[in-house]
Amino acid sequence: MKTVDIGIDLGTTNSAIARAAGEDVTVFKNRDRMDVTPSVVRIDQSGRIIVGRRAYDSRIVCPGDVALEFKRTMGQSDRIPFESTGRELTAEELSAEVLKSLLEDAARGGGEPATAAVVTVPAAFGQLQCEATARAAKRAGLKQTVLLQEPIAAAIAYGIRPEGQDCRFLIYDLGGGTFDLALMSTHGGQISVIEHRGDSMLGGKDVDQLIVDRILLPAIAAKFNLPPGEPSRQLRQALYRAAEEAKIELSQAETFLAVVLDAGNDADGDAIELELEISRAALETLVTPLLQRTVDLCRTALTDAGVEPKELSCMLLVGGPTQMPVVRRLLAGAFPGVTIDTSLDPMTVVARGAALYASTLVREGDEAETPAAPDAVALQIACEPVWNEPTCPLYGRVDQMPDGATALEVRVEAAGGQWSSGWVPVADGTFELELHLVGQGVTRFEISLRNEEGRSYPASPASVQVRRGLAVANPPLPHSIGAEVVDEQGVASVDILFPRSTSLPASVRKTYHARHTLRPSEPDRSLAIKIWEGEYPDPEANQWVGGLMIHASEIERPIPEGADIELELRIDASRCMTVEAYVPILDQHFTERVYVPEENEEAALDDAEEVRDVVDEQIDRLRTVEYQARLVGDDLTRMELRHLERGLEDIHIESANAPRDPDSARRLVQKAKELRGKLSLVEQRLRRGSGLSLAIREYERVLGDTRRVVAEYAKASEAQEFEILEREGNAAREHGDMNGMKDAIRDLKRLYVRIAAQHDWYWTEWMESIIALPDTHLLPPEARQQLEHGRLALQRGNIADVKAAVRYLWRYVSGGGGGAMGSESGIRH
Ligand code: ADP
Ligand code: MG
Repeated sequence: MKTVDIGIDLGTTNSAIARAAGEDVTVFKNRDRMDVTPSVVRIDQSGRIIVGRRAYDSRIVCPGDVALEFKRTMGQSDRIPFESTGRELTAEELSAEVLKSLLEDAARGGGEPATAAVVTVPAAFGQLQCEATARAAKRAGLKQTVLLQEPIAAAIAYGIRPEGQDCRFLIYDLGGGTFDLALMSTHGGQISVIEHRGDSMLGGKDVDQLIVDRILLPAIAAKFNLPPGEPSRQLRQALYRAAEEAKIELSQAETFLAVVLDAGNDADGDAIELELEISRAALETLVTPLLQRTVDLCRTALTDAGVEPKELSCMLLVGGPTQMPVVRRLLAGAFPGVTIDTSLDPMTVVARGAALYASTLVREGDEAETPAAPDAVALQIACEPVWNEPTCPLYGRVDQMPDGATALEVRVEAAGGQWSSGWVPVADGTFELELHLVGQGVTRFEISLRNEEGRSYPASPASVQVRRGLAVANPPLPHSIGAEVVDEQGVASVDILFPRSTSLPASVRKTYHARHTLRPSEPDRSLAIKIWEGEYPDPEANQWVGGLMIHASEIERPIPEGADIELELRIDASRCMTVEAYVPILDQHFTERVYVPEENEEAALDDAEEVRDVVDEQIDRLRTVEYQARLVGDDLTRMELRHLERGLEDIHIESANAPRDPDSARRLVQKAKELRGKLSLVEQRLRRGSGLSLAIREYERVLGDTRRVVAEYAKASEAQEFEILEREGNAAREHGDMNGMKDAIRDLKRLYVRIAAQHDWYWTEWMESIIALPDTHLLPPEARQQLEHGRLALQRGNIADVKAAVRYLWRYVSGGGGGAMGSESGIRH
């Protein structure tokens, strides 16, 4: 039985890879003989990809060809451009390059190439970020990836054990550009993150910036005739290099002679050079306010969690900058009595912990790796791979007695002969043992069998392994996950399938019903199953995480309206999700794992004006809700609405003054989304009886769209059909007949598609809109291939091929199959 053994810290600034053999951990060195590799990627003019130190060093000379800190946009569709080659890569693709480079280092250091690894992620990572990390690992060639939260990895490396009672501790992780704080606990033999906080704008590089701005640059300006304006690239590079070196050296030394060399010339043509002694004391004065912010965050996190500092058993330090003595001193001063543990190298501690955890995981496909002897007796063994006590139960079963045996005995021995169970009888085909774990590491136990006459048989498996240590509590879901369902009135809402904090792995099964009939004869239609992450009933206020399309071209018989659709969602411990639908009437499964291109609001909205549009739209919506509230709501609701309105107005004002950078736009959109979510809660409360007005709105929209295609393209018979539908629909609207309206909407949509699909524009428009989607790189390979076919067919004007591609791609595109209006969920309760 082989274990995973490899652990990778895929950091924002630096990454590291380690391997564990039992309790022994080796950190692999890279080609520069360093334990850590900068998470930096450069693509040079010739298209060569360079990862690590050399890429990092070239960041100031050729900034357009270097990507760094891309982990910050993990899971987003933003592409980072590389100037010289014109290439554009996502954070996921760049991370894959870093992982590849680490895996090469490990292969060089350890012989065989790794196919499985534990990769760490920040505690704050959500579903999309985790999935993107897992996909990056796959791109890098790993067949099996297990994600583990960084603070848990650090705790494992520090050898956190419960020692008889539950304890709480803090992981203080100050990295290159981010600060992460995790309040952890050991409880019931598991380690888990109770609370996490952070500041994504605080880290070691802010210290470098301070040294440049407050010490080095003023000294140079005093000595040289610097041209006005920003320092030159060359000077900046020299300054940052000197600053980082000084910062690192001053963690050891009291004073350091910083040397700025190779910094270009000043306005008089003199070569800029500087030697300047910097003292640790000066550095500490400079960075104390910065560090004070981290101390304050620790305090508020504890207060919010209702934990007194004296209840903490320790505080563990992680991340390069924690090597500065002032960090430890400040923490010790702020939390007297709390042990501050800095005994492990803070740059590699996360990778080490990941490797230790990996050493407790069995490699997939390797469970029965040694071929069993032909006469081996098959055993079913139940035994935990990680156990916290010195003795651990093992249950076994023999399904079939070997030939020539009427009774069997089993013996389990620790490899090395330090412990043996002695011969234990197998009764009724089962046996039960207490294994004694030897030491703190992994104990391997050999299993032997014999019959009543003493003849021995090989067992399969022939051994089991148990690691003495803490089991890791799987991270609970940070947000709820649910499926979008549509009610009688056509109103969409999220039906929560996994409430937040569900512990993983988890799976859930629920039966829904087809919202409309799906016939194989209508190949441009489908039933959409849409999955959202978030707490709001209004789907759009949440985060889109994926879905599944049951496409008409995939079925042979119709799925009638109301037919059962059994939905099964599974999320594994690494938070990777599979969506599966089973349609009993067809006895057919639909399992495709879909990364549906997301309407990426954040990406589209890096313009303050567009943010204002979104906010304005919400304000309009708020007015409608307010109107309803005046009619049917209570005082509390009205107060709530006023509060929401103030919030939206604040965003509106802020967006008017906002600097035009993507980060602040994103933040504003996020805020707007939150308010929108709250608004939808109020709306839902008020909706009783008002579903009709929504159906009317939908009806009118569909009617208008269909009228336009009818006017331009319909045959006489179709025009007639439209008239009838319009008459019926209008009558239903007049009488407030909900079902009548629903029918009219459905029939109009069908008519629309029937007419429009006759025309090339319908298909070319679809193709163009799919090509323009922001996230097409997330499509599975076959779909990307179809996309490419479609793109070519479009260029050549080959409509038949365009159609084929669009039909194929519909299953991945939200809105597919229903024509221009059909992006709704295809399931109801
Ligand atoms: P991340 O978790 O963001 O990948 P790291 O934990 O690797 O980051 O920290 C990188 C930061 O640590 C850099 O800013 C680097 O300059 C700083 N650093 C590394 N060694 C030391 C040291 N001995 N003293 C102070 N800072 C250090
Ligand atoms: Mg880190």
